Amino acid sequence: MRDPQSIPVNEDARLIPVWSMIAAGVAFVAIEYYFWIVLPAQRHHGPPPLGLQVYFNLSCGLLAALYFLMVGYVSRDAPRRSMSARFWIIICFVLPGAIGAVLYFLLRLPVVSSCPACGTRAQNDYHFCPQCAYQLTASCGNCFRSVRITDQFCTRCGHELAEDQMPARLRALAD
Ligand SMILES: [Zn+2]
Ligand SMILES: [Zn+2]
Repeated sequence: MRDPQSIPVNEDARLIPVWSMIAAGVAFVAIEYYFWIVLPAQRHHGPPPLGLQVYFNLSCGLLAALYFLMVGYVSRDAPRRSMSARFWIIICFVLPGAIGAVLYFLLRLPVVSSCPACGTRAQNDYHFCPQCAYQLTASCGNCFRSVRITDQFCTRCGHELAEDQMPARLRALAD
């Protein structure tokens, strides 16, 4: 029996790598610098209204920053789903606008992690490991739908979950 720490935890908070945050910041500053300092010096006619200028300049900077954050996210998220990060980063860069990112979110596969007992790759919605039947998440013993570890009764069928003899490591997570 493994300890509860070996169960994969939610990694969403670490999905945007530091390099992409730095790249996003640099891109934002560079674009603001270009639009506020470089471009007005080259312009011969009068400047557009200030409100319009602020809106346009900020949204261009934010879009560029978002682009780098998105690529960073894809580079971390794709491997969790057994997808090629390199392939999807190229797709995001090559396709204009955010089409690459939209395609990625439409086509991405479910998150996979490995079974703590035997190491087999298992999608996060699996209740049991397909190779060794290790119970990965809490589920109802009557209707087999997902339940929260803290639930006393199944929300779908009313089955009393205490009767299921859930493994001790799952019960330990509820404490
Ligand atoms: Zn297993
Ligand atoms: Zn049930």
